[in-house]
Amino acid sequence: MLSAVEPKLDTDNQTVYFRCIAGCPGKHSIFDVIYTCPSCGSLLEVHHEREPLKKRDASQWKQLFDSRVGTTQWPHGSGVWGMREWVVPALTDDNVVSMFEGNTNLFWAERLGQQLGVPDLWIKLCGNSHTGSFKDLGMTVLVSVVKQMMAQGSPVKAVACASTGDTSAALAAYAAYAGIPAIIFLPAGKVSTAQLIQPVANGAHVLALDTDFDGCMKIVQEVTQDNSIYLANSMNSLRIEGQKTVGIEIIRQFEWEVPDWIIIPVGNLGNISALYKGFQLMMDLGLISRMPRLVAAQAAKANPFYESFKNGFKEKVSMTAQQTLANAIRIGDPVSYAKATKAIVETDGIVEQATENELAAAAAHADLTGMFTCPHTGVALAVLTKLLKRGVIKSDDKTVVISTAHGLKFTDFKVGYHESTLEEVTSQYANPAVHLPARVDAVKAEIEKRLMH
Ligand SMILES: *Cc1c(COP(=O)(O)O)cnc(C)c1O
Ligand SMILES: [Zn+2]
Repeated sequence: MLSAVEPKLDTDNQTVYFRCIAGCPGKHSIFDVIYTCPSCGSLLEVHHEREPLKKRDASQWKQLFDSRVGTTQWPHGSGVWGMREWVVPALTDDNVVSMFEGNTNLFWAERLGQQLGVPDLWIKLCGNSHTGSFKDLGMTVLVSVVKQMMAQGSPVKAVACASTGDTSAALAAYAAYAGIPAIIFLPAGKVSTAQLIQPVANGAHVLALDTDFDGCMKIVQEVTQDNSIYLANSMNSLRIEGQKTVGIEIIRQFEWEVPDWIIIPVGNLGNISALYKGFQLMMDLGLISRMPRLVAAQAAKANPFYESFKNGFKEKVSMTAQQTLANAIRIGDPVSYAKATKAIVETDGIVEQATENELAAAAAHADLTGMFTCPHTGVALAVLTKLLKRGVIKSDDKTVVISTAHGLKFTDFKVGYHESTLEEVTSQYANPAVHLPARVDAVKAEIEKRLMH
């Protein structure tokens, strides 16, 4: 039992608060409706004072987190809330909105690793989650905080976001689970049925506007000005608190050993900032003694972070992102640029890019070893291949690729690949079904041709 050193949960919120990432003085309650620094406009981050957390030593934290994995005890069976003291300790049990997200499988990609020349290759399958992407990890936190705000008499009546994909799916699901109205802003005619159907099914108010994504973003920011509708887009730092548990979870799954590399597909740069924030906390509390090297993988069609890396982060590059198969990372002006730059610099990290052809080939290759990769995971795998060829990642390095979404959300991409209809892609691994007459001789001849040659 740890009761002798059991720290009180920080229910009065004195040691966990929003602060400005640019260093302006001031603490803001995480239960206030505030997204950016009132002095300078920079992003906020949730800061956890370290002293109260040091009441447990590293081995006690490990033991505590290990003991909660896979239980049904509310809310600790969630991969996020199993680490609640490091996430939002001020949340009471009845305000947690959770579908026991997290605790996703980290598996040894033995055959793919052999083929690529890095046998110690691991895939963290974040898409094996409630709505099929890692966005669930952030939304459980954001919607829980909103529920507690509403219970405490806040004027918030609904949550809203502009999105065409995974963010809106996660927001709609968690809001529906909590019984909180969700408003989703989509660009009319620019989203597929698959992207539309999750929020529609979850009963969200889905508003299709005659504009593009940036136009939706402008409108949602206007609509959320008056504090009755809470903005769930990526400038909201609460999501980072949930997403940072992925990195901690990876290290826990390796029995608290640090891998050499973690490769992650990036767009708005929230997720890589979150990984780094989790590792920083682990370092400060003595759970790990070195950082993994982080690799940010971008689509060449939407590569502002790669361009910034190339200029040594001397200046932030922004651009109009072009269409890419990896549509969840089609972002030209990433919100979490400053946080992510720090993550790369401080972990001796790298930013690399992949073309449409490279990402599609890497995804199809991985599928041939039993996976069903989304295009974003294809970007990360293509980047892995490049870094291996260049000798940056060595063949005996322990390497993790973060798979950010489930491939089943992206069947158009798979179908297009195997029908060889994707633009700028040569479908070298295409494996279309063959149409045969219903005759045993024809079937036998075909099998013979395929297996016995
Ligand atoms: C959101 C998302 C990303 C990018 O994460 P950022 O935090 O925006 O960098 C990557 N892959 C998938 C599948 C996503 O949904
Ligand atoms: Zn500031």
